[in-house]
Amino acid sequence: MNIHEYQAKEVLSSFGIPVPRGRVALTADQVERTAREMGGRCVVKAQIYAGGRGKAGGVRLADNPEKALEAGKDLFGRVLITPQTGPEGLVVRRLLVEEAVEIGKEFYLSITLDRNTSRYCIIASAEGGMDIEELAAKSPEKIRMLPIDPFVGLRSYEARKVALGLGLQGRICEDCVRLMLNLYRCCMEKDCSLVEINPLVVTRAGWLLAMDAKINFDDNAIFRHQDYPEMLDYTQMDPLEITASEFDLSYIKLKGNIGCMVNGAGLAMATLDMLKEYGGEPANFLDVGGGASKERVAEAFKIILQDSDVKGVFVNIFGGIMRCDVIAQGIIDAASEVGCTLPIVVRMDGTLVEEGRRLLLESGLDVQYTDYLGDGVEKIVKMLQES
Ligand code: GDP
Ligand code: MN
Repeated sequence: MNIHEYQAKEVLSSFGIPVPRGRVALTADQVERTAREMGGRCVVKAQIYAGGRGKAGGVRLADNPEKALEAGKDLFGRVLITPQTGPEGLVVRRLLVEEAVEIGKEFYLSITLDRNTSRYCIIASAEGGMDIEELAAKSPEKIRMLPIDPFVGLRSYEARKVALGLGLQGRICEDCVRLMLNLYRCCMEKDCSLVEINPLVVTRAGWLLAMDAKINFDDNAIFRHQDYPEMLDYTQMDPLEITASEFDLSYIKLKGNIGCMVNGAGLAMATLDMLKEYGGEPANFLDVGGGASKERVAEAFKIILQDSDVKGVFVNIFGGIMRCDVIAQGIIDAASEVGCTLPIVVRMDGTLVEEGRRLLLESGLDVQYTDYLGDGVEKIVKMLQES
C-alpha cells in the first residue's frame, strides 16, 4: 500500500526523524498562505503515488508567496508523467508546501526487504538525489547494502558502519546512527515493505533532514493498523484495483492483452509463465482465491472485462475448495450481464468439474473448454494472433 510523501513524513516524524516544516495544500490559496507561514521561500511539491517528480517538473522552488501561488495554480490538475507512473501519468490533487532548505549534500537511505537474503536490508549511498536509479545501473559499487538480522534487529555499531561508509563524521555521524535506528523501528512497528529517504540531506547549516520520503505498507499487515485504510488517496489508484480490493480479490495490471482469471498465486504464476512460453502476453492477473462465491467470481470476471486492453480471457482454475460449477456460473452471469463478445478459453479441473463444463457449454457463450493447461494456453494465444 502506497501513501503520499507528506503522510510518510508525518510517520517518520513520529519516530523522531527530522523532516522539513511543511503542510499539505488542496487549493492554490492554501499554497500561498502556507508559503507566507514558512517565511516566503518554500518548495511546492506534487503529491502523487510515484517518484521521479523532480525531473518531471513536480517539485518547484519558490522565492516568495506569489511565486508559490503561481506554482500551485500551475501544478493543481496537471498530469505528471514520470518513469514510475506509466504513460498515462497521475493527476496532481494535493501539494506539499515546505520551508526551503539549503542543501549541503544529498544521500540515499532506505530499508526494504531483500528477497535474496529474505531479510530487511539497509541500502545507503553517498550519492543520493534524483539520479539514484542511474547510479544503481552504472555504478552499483557506490551503493551499500547491509542485511539486518531479524532476531537481534539493527545494532548501533552496524548503523555506525553504514554512516561512516557514507563519509559522515562526529556529531552528524551519530545523528545518522540514531536516524537509522529510528527508521528501522518505524519500518518494523508500521509494517512497512519500504521506507526510503531520498535525498537524506545534510543542510548547509549542518543538520540531517529527510527531504523526501516514501513509505509502502505491507498489504498483508493492513488489518493490524486501523488508521491505514483512511490514509489511501483513491484518486491515485487504478479504479479496477480499487474495485478488486473491495471484493478482496488480488488484481495486478500487466501490459499484454490476455485477461487471466486464476485461483491461487502459484497457479497464477504458472499460468503467466505458460502464456509467455506460447508467445502470449497477459493483460493482468486476477486471483479469486480459495473459496469464492458465485458473486465474487462474477465481479472478478467483470473487472477483467472492464480493462480495455483485454482482447481475450483465459480462465485457469483448480477446484479444490473452490467448486467448478460456482466458477462456471460466475463467468456466465458476468459475461451475460456485460454482453461479453471476447473469446474465452476455460481450463478447469477438480470438484464438480463435469457440472461446470456442462453449464459453460450449455450457456450459449462463445467459450472454448479444455481439460489441459497447455491446450488452453495454445488456444487463447492462437485466437488472439488470428484476430
Ligand atoms: P522526487 O524527484 O520525486 O524524488 O522528489 P524529491 O522530493 O526528491 O525532490 C527532487 C529534488 O528536488 C531533490 O533531490 C532536491 O535536490 C530538490 N529539492 C527538494 N526540496 C528542496 C529544498 O527544500 N531545497 C532545495 N534546494 N532543493 C530541494
Ligand atoms: Mn526523491
